[in-house]
Amino acid sequence: MKPRPGFPARLTTSAPAPGPGARAAKVPAGMPPKPGTRGAAAVVAAPIPATPSMASDAVRARMVQKLASQGIADARVLRAMSSVERHRFVDSALVNQAYEDTSLPIGLGQTISKPSVVARMIELLLGAPALNGQADARLGRVLEIGTGCGYQAAVLSHVASEVYSIERLRGLNERARANLRHFRLATVHLLLGDGMLGYAKGAPYAGIIAAAGGDAVPDAWIAQLAVGGRIVAPTRSADGGQALVVIDRGPSGVQRRVLEAVHFVPLKSGIA
Ligand code: SAH
Repeated sequence: MKPRPGFPARLTTSAPAPGPGARAAKVPAGMPPKPGTRGAAAVVAAPIPATPSMASDAVRARMVQKLASQGIADARVLRAMSSVERHRFVDSALVNQAYEDTSLPIGLGQTISKPSVVARMIELLLGAPALNGQADARLGRVLEIGTGCGYQAAVLSHVASEVYSIERLRGLNERARANLRHFRLATVHLLLGDGMLGYAKGAPYAGIIAAAGGDAVPDAWIAQLAVGGRIVAPTRSADGGQALVVIDRGPSGVQRRVLEAVHFVPLKSGIA
């Protein structure tokens, strides 16, 4: 079997025109060619979209269709997932997997979350009591614990007015900063710190979302949650695994629900 070409497909403008029997380099369906390879389209057998961004748009649209068919119904979430170019957040060697429903390594032993899990958690967050089920409402300030590569923070910026995202690993805080520079998202604030303490300066939050799972939801998060706000976080479950926990803050106290099992990296304390 012919090996599957990597993405971006390696094409050079200096390649000779394919002679009889020569195999033209194939670009994986819908994937953009490497920047700077304009003109290489002449040696590509299959037609490719006119611009790299149109190519990734098509692959991302398929990812979003799949999310919808798997039960993500909130139009705000589907729009946000189709807006953010996930391939810009993963290592170049993994770009051809960027729109598969899988978590991928982002360095320092951490991972970018699966698109279906990001979509599910943001859909839950938009169910915060304060939004009253209004289909077109936007969240106010949101706190994300565990910036990682910055992907979820970018998605959140489409459904919330301000995003505070905190990361404990310096290397990833810097990486997220570099990844997000391209998007120029003025409402995303990246912070280096221990997210177990929340981020009091931005409180109260309309929503708090965690991308790392601990033994319990820290009290600081509940204290920093606005009335009508919601926390969505992976937390250790009774069977020793992990489950999504939703905590709503009402005028007279908090309400907690445990949902499906999930697999997140551990929530750790301190900065490294
Ligand atoms: N949100 C990312 C997922 C990152 S993985 C995405 O878009 O895909 C979870 C991240 O949580 C890791 O980078 C890990 O370093 C970080 N993390 C774990 N404990 C933390 C803590 N106490 N404070 C801040 N970040 C933490």
